[in-house]
Amino acid sequence: MSIDVIKMGGAAGVSTQALVADVEAQLAAGRRLVLVHGGSDETNRLGQAVGHPPEFVTTASGHTSRRTDRRTLELFMMATALVNRRLVEGLAARGVLALGLSGIDGRLLEARRKPHLRVVDNGRVRILRDEWTGTPTKVNAALLHTLLDAGYTPVIAPVGLGQGGEALNVDGDRAAARVAGALGAQSLTLLTNVPGVLRSFPDESSLVSHVPESELAALMERTEGRMKKKLLGAQEALAAGTQRVMIADGRVEAPLAAAFAGRGTLITAGSGAPSETASEAPSESPAETRPEASR
Ligand code: ADP
Repeated sequence: MSIDVIKMGGAAGVSTQALVADVEAQLAAGRRLVLVHGGSDETNRLGQAVGHPPEFVTTASGHTSRRTDRRTLELFMMATALVNRRLVEGLAARGVLALGLSGIDGRLLEARRKPHLRVVDNGRVRILRDEWTGTPTKVNAALLHTLLDAGYTPVIAPVGLGQGGEALNVDGDRAAARVAGALGAQSLTLLTNVPGVLRSFPDESSLVSHVPESELAALMERTEGRMKKKLLGAQEALAAGTQRVMIADGRVEAPLAAAFAGRGTLITAGSGAPSETASEAPSESPAETRPEASR
């Protein structure tokens, strides 16, 4: 049965309650879901509380990254663990058999460490060391398939496992893209606190509703900040074989139903118009395929 991968943003404004209710509904309708989440907002809050405030840098390639020294990595692990537990708690309260994991559990998500970060600071390039960030490289798809086959809904925190066995802060969108690619997912949905990609941010009426893969690179060049990283995730998922990536609003009542119905920015493989059938719910009868106890 096909799988849909969902990334829930770590930014303020996205409702966990609305998401878990919709996850329950989508599972009941026969979908198989894998959830990946962020933790940026919670990491910022924790850092402020313990006197280690967040610092953001712009890399030489134009992306925005969190400066992650060892202390920040540890705060990131605590904060993402809390986000993970809240999601699992919310799902458990609705009878969903959710299983919380981070990428270091069971070698779920391997990553390549960036030994240093080249950042642009007042127009000058600076090298930052003591960096604990990584780029997701490999997913233990067999583990996820085992969990899904046993009826669990995996919930993944964006902590990667470096080659030396070290934990690394990885970007949640790119982690979700890797997971979608490795699982052969039919779709990847990136829920965030805007309606999708905005042509002229922050004007919410300037939503870009469809982007074929062939036009993605040009859109990325025009897009800045955090949204650029999401588009990079979308590009990576398409390159790994995912046919549809949605960047959609996580602040609405039923965010998954809306995204699956095509609301948001839909990015499709190839160069054509979006396929009519790809967003359809699974054809199998929920009663046959999703026994109550296996959600
Ligand atoms: P999340 O934590 O939900 O993954 P991010 O903060 O990483 O969200 O990315 C979403 C943010 O990207 C938006 O809240 C917005 O501030 C920013 N952004 C920058 N450019 C754009 C754009 N062109 N369209 C939409 N959002 C944009």
